[in-house]
Amino acid sequence: MPELPEVETTVRDLRPHLIGRTIQRARVTWERTVAQPNAKQFMRAIVGYKIIGINRRGKYLVFELERPQTTDHRRRTTDDGRNLRESAAAYQITNQKHVPNEREGSQIKNHKFLLVHLRMTGQFGFHEPRVKRDKHQHVHLLLDDGRELRFHDFRKFGRWWLVDNPAQVVGKLGPEPLEMSKREFLKRLRARRGHIKPLLLNQTFVAGVGNIYADESLWYAKIHPLRDATTLTDKEASDLYNAIRRVFRKAIGVGGTSFDATYKRINGQSGEFQEDLRVVGRAGEPCHRCGTPIVKTVVGQRGTYYCPMCQRV
Ligand SMILES: [Zn+2]
Repeated sequence: MPELPEVETTVRDLRPHLIGRTIQRARVTWERTVAQPNAKQFMRAIVGYKIIGINRRGKYLVFELERPQTTDHRRRTTDDGRNLRESAAAYQITNQKHVPNEREGSQIKNHKFLLVHLRMTGQFGFHEPRVKRDKHQHVHLLLDDGRELRFHDFRKFGRWWLVDNPAQVVGKLGPEPLEMSKREFLKRLRARRGHIKPLLLNQTFVAGVGNIYADESLWYAKIHPLRDATTLTDKEASDLYNAIRRVFRKAIGVGGTSFDATYKRINGQSGEFQEDLRVVGRAGEPCHRCGTPIVKTVVGQRGTYYCPMCQRV
C-alpha cells in the first residue's frame, strides 16, 4: 500500500514521461475512480491540457495542467484587459507559489490540477493504445506522443480529482514530515492526545505516514505503538521526529517498499526498502537491536509490529 516514499517515487518516475505532454483523449471505464467532477465531465474537461508539473502532497500526486487559451475559442483572449485581471486573480489563488509578473501576465493560461490518490493498489503504466485494456485499468489518457497512460487499480479504491485549486482536496492535510521543523513537530504533538501510532497515521497531524513507516519509525525511536502521545518525553518526541525523517529519506532513496505486491515502479521494478524493514513483516524473528522476537498485534484495526523489549508501554 503506497505511502509517502512510494508516492514520491511514482512522481519522480512519471516526470520524464509526462512533463510537456498534452492529453488528447480520456476514457474512464470505472466511473467511481473519478471523484470530482463526474466521469463524463472529467473525460471532456481534461482534454487539451498540457502537463506542466508533477508534485506530491502527503500521499497525493498533484499534476499541474495548463491549456493555452488560444485553443479555447469560447473564451476571450487575454487581449481583453478586464478578462486578464480576472485570470490573474484566479491564477494567484490556485498557484500561490508562483505569482505571475506583468510580462507573464500577458501569457496567462488556463490552469487546472489533477490530484490522484493511489489508496491500496493504484498504479500507473504506459501502453500502446492498441493494446487491449485489461479489466483492472480504469482511467486511460491518450498522450500526444502516441502512448496511453493507464491507471491500474485492482481494489478500485484509488481516486482522481480534477479541480481548479488543490486545496479543495488536500487543504486539511498536516505538514510534510520532510519539510517541518522539529519545533513544529513537538508543538503539534503537544496539542494532541491518544495513542501515538494512530496519531502518526492521522493525515491531519502529519501528511504521508502510513502503516509500514509508522511501525518502522516507532521501532527506531524505541516507542511502543500504544504509548499515549501526552506521555512522550521531549527526548522521545525528538527521536521520533528524527526516525520518521530518516526512514522516509532512506525509503525514497531506494524507490520505496514493495512489500505485498501492491506497489511497483513505473518501469515494473520493485522498490528496495523491504530489505531494510526492521519490524514490519518480521513477527517471531529476532529484533535487530536486542534479539527479542518481534511481536505482531493490532492497533486501531491495523496490523502492528514492534519489539516488546525495546519498545515498552
Ligand atoms: Zn528489541
